[in-house]
Order: sequence, then structure tokens, then C-alpha cells
Amino acid sequence: MAKVYLTGAGPGDFELLTIKALRVVKEADVIIYDRLANPEILKEAKDGCEFVYVGKEDSNHTLPQEEINEVIYQSALKYENVVRLKGGDPLVFGRGGEEAIYLKDRGIAFEFIPGITSAIAVPEYAGIPVTHRGVTVSFRVVTGHESSNKNQSQIPWENYKSDDTIVFLMGLHRLAHICHMLIKIGKPKDYPIAVISRGTTPDAKTVVGTLEDIHKKAKDLPTPALIVVGEVVKLREQLNWFEKE
Ligand code: SAH
Repeated sequence: MAKVYLTGAGPGDFELLTIKALRVVKEADVIIYDRLANPEILKEAKDGCEFVYVGKEDSNHTLPQEEINEVIYQSALKYENVVRLKGGDPLVFGRGGEEAIYLKDRGIAFEFIPGITSAIAVPEYAGIPVTHRGVTVSFRVVTGHESSNKNQSQIPWENYKSDDTIVFLMGLHRLAHICHMLIKIGKPKDYPIAVISRGTTPDAKTVVGTLEDIHKKAKDLPTPALIVVGEVVKLREQLNWFEKE
């Protein structure tokens, strides 16, 4: 009986893979992976394991989700241990839920294996805690990827007036727009914001600025990158530990 493990690969640093994820990777007959999963993880697979690459993160060159679902399903018909390896956590903007429903509808068993999400770990490696006593009591994780139809924003901007930390995933290409909208709902122009590129890896690079100037400073950073907005960004001055200047 086949089983599909919808598995989080963690945010980049190989050692942020869970022990459970490592076990299923070692046992896998096939691993279906995308760009965000650290390729070092694939080296842990057994001899003869098949590898299937299903596309790049947040670009238009990725396979349509329906095709990915079908690739996973077909793999489950062929093999016993199927690992669907996804960056971060499979259910944080990872479409793991859709994949699981597709499998369930076709009688294929699945398990979720949570991963360390970039939304928390990438700021953490940059010395930015998503919550901090006396600074903020809550945080939100939001997609920065809006539909191109300007009249149909998916993001409920009016909800973001509070001082919650906001982490935008998939938002670098919309950085100017995001800053514009945050200023429009009333945040000060000098409100702290950071962009973190390739977090938790040796190429990690963090740029700190304000809603007004970050666009110029950070727009050319390589992806994957995420955006953190909030007073917690200032704590990096004391807490930066990973990146060497
Ligand atoms: N499921 C993933 C997120 C998928 S959405 C998770 O839980 O981490 C993809 C987005 O995640 C990217 O566009 C980027 O914003 C962010 N991301 C993933 N890995 C990252 C990294 N190492 N550094 C910075 N951002 C990252």
C-alpha cells in the first residue's frame, strides 16, 4: 500500500530538517521536490531513488498545481514510499492541503510531516524575533503575491493597522506596492522593514530600512526572499548572530 509523505524540508539550512523528514527521505522510492528544498537533502536518499523536479518557487515557470498533483498520484501508483518534499512547512503557502485532497479523493494514503517554516526561521537567523515582550504580541504571515487585477486585492490591507509583526512571503516583486499600501493605511514612512534573502543559508543577506526607502535598497536581492515589517526589526541591531557583515 503506497503512502505519500507531504514533507517540510525546512527553510534552507540542512540541519533544520526534522528527524522524521530525514527518515522518510532515506526510505523514499521517489522524491518529488521543488526549488526551495535544499538539494543536499536529496543526497540522503537511498540508491535507486527516483528524483522528480516540479518547478521553481514563485515564478510562472512552475508546473501547474494540477499537474504536480497528478505526478504525485502517478508516483503513488508506481511506488510504495513517495516523498513530496517542499520548502519550509508543507502547509504554509505550500499547497500541501490541495495535494493531500487530490490523493485522498483517489484513495491514496498520506501523512503530513511539518517543517520549520521560513516565515519564522528566516527572520530568526537574521536576528529578528517575530514576537518580543514589550514590542509586539502577535504576528501575521501573509502572501505578498497579489492578483495583478488592481481592483481585486486578496490582501485585507485595512486589517494591518495594528502593530503586529507582518511577514510577507512571495512579496519581493511587490515590495514597492506593499510599502505604498502600508503607508496608505497609516503606518509612518519611517516604520521599520527588513528584506531577507536566502535566509538560513551561507548566502543569507538582510537589508534593513524604512517603508519609504527599502524599495531602493532591497529590490535587487536574489530570491527566495521574505519581508518583515514591524518594530521587532530594530532588535536586529542587538540580535544579529548569523550573518557576518
Ligand atoms: N512553505 C514555505 C513557504 C512557501 S512560499 C515555508 O513554510 O517556508 C515561498 C516563499 O517563502 C518565498 O517566496 C519566500 O518569500 C519565502 N522563503 C522560503 N525560503 C526562504 C529563504 N530561505 N529565505 C527567504 N525567504 C524564503
